[in-house]
Amino acid sequence: MTAHSLIDSQLGYYRARAAEYDSTFVPYQEAGLPAALERLRAGNIRGEVLELASGTGYWTRFLSEAADTVTCLDGSPEMIEEARRHGLANVSFQQQDLFDWTPERQWDSVFFAHWLAHVPDENFDAFWSSVRKAVRPGGVVEFVDVTGEARRLEQQDAQQPEIAVQRSLEDGRTFRIVKIFREPAELAERLGALGWTCEIDEVHPGFLYATCRP
Ligand code: SAH
Repeated sequence: MTAHSLIDSQLGYYRARAAEYDSTFVPYQEAGLPAALERLRAGNIRGEVLELASGTGYWTRFLSEAADTVTCLDGSPEMIEEARRHGLANVSFQQQDLFDWTPERQWDSVFFAHWLAHVPDENFDAFWSSVRKAVRPGGVVEFVDVTGEARRLEQQDAQQPEIAVQRSLEDGRTFRIVKIFREPAELAERLGALGWTCEIDEVHPGFLYATCRP
C-alpha cells in the first residue's frame, strides 16, 4: 500500500470514528491533560488561533478560553459536526484536507494535537511549510503528540510496522492509519533543519508538548 492510500484510509477511519471518538480517546488522554494544559495556558496561545485536525473539539474548548477566536480545520465533516456541539461562540470550522492545504491568511498561534504522528515522512516538510505560511510574524506554533512510550497501546501494522498501525471501530471494521512515534530530540532536530526553534518536552509519560517559533 502506498502512503497515499494510507492517508485516505486514515481519513476514512476518523470519519467513521467521529461518533465514538470521545469515548475511546478521553480515558487515554486524561492522564496527560494537566501537564499539557499548563503549557497551553502559559500565554503563547492567544489572539487569533488556528487549530489543525481539531477533531471532536477536545482541545478546542481550552483554546477558545485563551483565544479571541479559533479557526478549526479538519478533513472530516463528521468530526466538525461533533465539535460544533460544544457550542463555542468564538470558534469557526472549515473542512480542509491538510495534505492539500495552502493557508490564505495568518494567525497569532497555530495549535494541533495528535496530528503530527499521522503525517508521513514524505509529507512532513510540505506540511510544515504550510504551517509556516499560517503564522504571523512573532507568532508561535504549539502541538501535542505521543512519544514512543505510547507505542505499546497500538497494534502494529503487518505491512508497514514502522509507519502504520491498525485500528478497529466498535462495529469491528478495521483501518490502517499512519502513526509515527517521533521523540522530542529527533523532532526538535528535524524542525531545526526546517528553520524552527522548538522547545519540546515529554510533559507526561507518553505525551509531548512542543512550542516552536519560525
Ligand atoms: N486534535 C484532535 C483530533 C486528533 S485525531 C484531538 O486531539 O482529539 C486526528 C484528526 O485528524 C481527526 O479529527 C481526523 O478527522 C483528522 N484528519 C485525518 N486526516 C486528515 C486530513 N487528511 N486532513 C485534515 N484532517 C484530517
